[in-house]
This record gives sequence, C-alpha cells and structure tokens, in this order.
Amino acid sequence: MALKVQDYKTDVHNNWCPGCGDFGILNSIQMTLAQMGLEPHRVALFSGIGCAAKTAHYVKVYGTHTLHGRVLTFATGAKLANPDLTVIAVGGDGDGLGIGAGHFVNAGRRNVDFTYVLYNNGVYGLTKGQASPTLKLGVQTKSLPQPNVNQGINPQLLALSAGYTFIARGYAFDIPHLVRLIQQGIEHKGSAFIDVLQPCPTYNDINTRDWYGGLDRLNEQGKAIPRVYKLEDQGYDPVIRPGMGQEESQGKLSQFVEKALEWGDRIPIGVFLKNEATSTYEERIAQRIPFYRETPPAKRPICDSGQHPTADLTSFFEELQVT
Ligand code: SF4
Ligand code: MG
Repeated sequence: MALKVQDYKTDVHNNWCPGCGDFGILNSIQMTLAQMGLEPHRVALFSGIGCAAKTAHYVKVYGTHTLHGRVLTFATGAKLANPDLTVIAVGGDGDGLGIGAGHFVNAGRRNVDFTYVLYNNGVYGLTKGQASPTLKLGVQTKSLPQPNVNQGINPQLLALSAGYTFIARGYAFDIPHLVRLIQQGIEHKGSAFIDVLQPCPTYNDINTRDWYGGLDRLNEQGKAIPRVYKLEDQGYDPVIRPGMGQEESQGKLSQFVEKALEWGDRIPIGVFLKNEATSTYEERIAQRIPFYRETPPAKRPICDSGQHPTADLTSFFEELQVT
C-alpha cells in the first residue's frame, strides 16, 4: 500500500509559534518520506535541542530528541550500527553551529551516509532570540540591545571545508523545492548538509518571509522582487564526478565559493555541491572489517538460545586495530 504524508504525522501537539518557518520544513520532511515510500520503521530521525528539535516528536518514524549540539554523534552511531537505516538529523543553527560546531566539522570529515537538515533563522528562538552563529555582523534583531558584534558563520563554506559531499540550501516557504533537496540529500551516498532559511517571526524581524520574498522592494509594476532564487534555474551544475580532472574540479569549487558568498539582494538556494568522487565512511570501514556489511553491530545476535549474552565486539576492535 502506498504511503501517504499522513502516515508520517504523529498526534503530538505542535507548539511552534504561528507562521514559523519550521512548519514548512516539517511538512517537507514528511512529504519527502512519503514520496520516496520509505517505511517509517526503516527511518531514524535525530534532533538536537531547540525549537527545531521538536521535529523528532512530530514525525512518525524512529525519533530521538537528543542533547544540545550532539545530534550528529547519534546520527553517526545509528548509521554505522545499522547501515540499512535512512538516517536524518535535524536541529537549529545555534544547536548545530554553536555548541555543535565541533561535531559538525568532524562529522563532515567522515562522510557517513546521513542527511542533516539545519533550521537556520539567525537566532536562538527557544531561549528568547539571542544572536545565533549565523546572524550577520551588524544585524540587530528585535531582542538584541545592540547590533550583532560578531561575524556570522557561512554554513556552506564551513561545510565545504569540513568535507561534506552534498551541500545545499533551501527555503522553508518553498516546500516543493525543499522536498526535492531533501530527497536528493537522502539519495546521495555520503553526508548531506541542507541549510534551510527559516524565518522566525517571533524573534527575527529582519530576515522575514516578506524580506526573503522581496516585498520591501517593488518593480515598476508594483510587484515584489524576491531575494531568493534557484541555482538550477541558472544552469548551475554542482556535480563533481569520479575521474573529473583537477582543473574542472577546481572550477566547481570556485563557482561554489562565489555562490556561497552571495547574500543580500540575491540569495541562491539549491544544490551548491554534489561530490560523487569521495568514498563514504561505511565503505572505508567495510574495507577494514570484511564482515561489516553482512553483520553490522545492530544485526549481531545479543544472546544465544539459552538467553546468555553473546554481545562481543572484540572482533570489530581487533580488525580496526584499536583497543
Ligand atoms: Fe519558530 Fe521562532 Fe517561535 Fe521558535 S521562537 S517556534 S523558531 S517562530
Ligand atoms: Mg536558530
């Protein structure tokens, strides 16, 4: 029987503020899972701490609301323990790029096959709107007594230098586009990072839905000139293929950096980079541990017929040559 969006909804009361961009991201995740026909018991969704992290309560798959900044450690562990799972991590910009920045960088180095959706609103919404790591220098949202005194992190550039092999940006109120991005992220073999611009109508009164939509600037016909535009509409090709020459690969990285730095009057969304030439962590592990694919940790018997525990990962560690 075909799965429907309704099959991924829980009856947990949603207490996000009216008009929050989180709703668009939540709907996009549920629509993507339904569209891909991924059975709920084969999907694990992990979240950090913050408004966005409540997503784990609202999607009817295996869900775990974890610790502040630690979501990628859980996602990594789950995927390595059971490579057959579709693993999705979610969280806000404060969670992922503030306290979680160390994990963000080191997860990128591994290239584990998970999809990380970052809800990026420039503020710590759950704790009353302090400046988050992505808020730009000099921007003063309504709960700040002074303009932001720090530079904002550029999530795309950080993801590139960390080693993420799929890097994208979506917009919470362009759901059909975001569904396409999340599907591509899940289908990608390796760590997929999707930064989603997510208006927070309660605390970020600068980067609002109207601002992204360009309602503050009208053309001669009185129509808004949107800031957000799609990379694919410009013929942008993000793919680095196996065997691609150095010059061509460098050209891809140059166009990536140019687009990653674009902000303000024009804000690109879409797939910035898709690197198909880098092995995944699971592939590297399988090369060292011949039986990893057939019997990863989650598929090993934990007791014998007499109910005596048999869990023993000694052979894994011996193969990995760690103690
Ligand atoms: Fe959404 Fe902001 Fe409200 Fe949090 S505080 S639920 S991010 S609108
Ligand atoms: Mg935030």
